[in-house]
Amino acid sequence: MSALPAEAAILIVGGGVVGVALAGFLAEEGREVVLVDAGAPAGSNSNAGSLHAQMQSRFMRIYPDQVPVLESTLHLYPKAIAFWRELESLLDADFGMSMHGGLMVAETDEQLEFLRYKAGRERAFGLDSEIVDRAELDRLAPYLGPAVIGAEFCANEGKLNPLRANAALRNRAIDKGAVLIDNVTVDRVVPRDSGFTVQTSAGHLRAGKIVIAAASGSRALCGALDVPVPVSPEALHVNITEPADPFIPHLVQHADRPITLKQFASGHVVIGGGWPARVTGPNDLPMVELASIVGNATLAQHIVPSVSGLHIIRTWAGINTVTDGKSILGPVEAVPGLYVAIPGDAGYTLGPLAARLVADCVLGRAPSEDMRNFSPARFAEAMKQPVSAAARP
Ligand SMILES: Cc1cc2nc3c(=O)[nH]c(=O)nc-3n(C[C@H](O)[C@H](O)[C@H](O)COP(=O)(O)OP(=O)(O)OC[C@H]3O[C@@H](n4cnc5c(N)ncnc54)[C@H](O)[C@@H]3O)c2cc1C
Repeated sequence: MSALPAEAAILIVGGGVVGVALAGFLAEEGREVVLVDAGAPAGSNSNAGSLHAQMQSRFMRIYPDQVPVLESTLHLYPKAIAFWRELESLLDADFGMSMHGGLMVAETDEQLEFLRYKAGRERAFGLDSEIVDRAELDRLAPYLGPAVIGAEFCANEGKLNPLRANAALRNRAIDKGAVLIDNVTVDRVVPRDSGFTVQTSAGHLRAGKIVIAAASGSRALCGALDVPVPVSPEALHVNITEPADPFIPHLVQHADRPITLKQFASGHVVIGGGWPARVTGPNDLPMVELASIVGNATLAQHIVPSVSGLHIIRTWAGINTVTDGKSILGPVEAVPGLYVAIPGDAGYTLGPLAARLVADCVLGRAPSEDMRNFSPARFAEAMKQPVSAAARP
């Protein structure tokens, strides 16, 4: 492991998918980059490898007020997935990526009606979503159980193996000259002399620019600079089965129940989708809950009966980061030299694109998106708004 240097032209805090992709993008342009990661359990090293494009019913159920915000950035998801594909070929790597679309299944007429509405909204934002009936599903997805009466099919969706993708992105950043330092926590960032002094668990360093890509850890670091970034951690659960011959080409979700189910190229079936885990101990480690192991596996067997013949060989929990429904990306105007890179809902899908957009800001180039839509300034502005009488407690 590299030692903490005394200085860095650009310091990235957080070595998840966003941080490592960003380190590679900046280093390949000849920038001197140091990335520091606390080594804490995070989203990128525990995620389920779904490449999401359609709106997740789980998100719509839990945060109905955030759906308009999510819709306003829906166009990013197909772009983000296309960017994953581009990266796979640029890195000459095999992410185990496959793009056979995603099915969100319904068991009742009411659920199917909800999916019909949802598919219509998504089409309005450029997604390739349509409703398929049971007869069509028998042809398209014969592995689905008899309880399923129809589904929304979104052709934009897919899956990849995050273990492979993370390793490839990390190796590329190192190859391009970025210095990656693990197991060091950034405790505080202090603006000083047109740069920053950074206090870490391994001592101090000076940085010219800083990108905070620390997921839910960004809140405290930014808060200490009077920059509100109200993100919160959410501990989630995943089960994985022993490998089987390929039989599930799609990413499978449910209209009304928490599940994502897919089969990796390796044959393992990965089952996640929002089952809760518990955060425990002095280091806030995510721990699996027995109820989630059982509930998640039971629901999986209900939707895809042949999964019941497979052993669960591993189960784990990780920390997701909840935003206000969209990404938080770009420069912090109030603190020159400071940038934030938090991808938001389905953040693994969005990760490399989010990193590309922020890298362009750092490099002084025009990003491919209007970054005002993602600016961290929205939270400071919201705090300045007078509270209406109706909103007061
Ligand atoms: C169980 C689970 C399954 C998921 N499945 C999917 C999925 O299938 N598809 C999808 O699109 N998304 C999925 N997600 C969400 C996705 O994983 C995250 O949104 C994404 O990985 C976020 O990437 P990131 O780089 O922003 O943050 P993270 O991967 O969370 O990385 C942040 C890093 O910052 C470091 N850090 C934090 N604070 C500090 C500090 N003070 N100093 C130094 N380092 C610090 C942490 O150690 C961590 O490594 C899932 C999440 C979970 C938990």
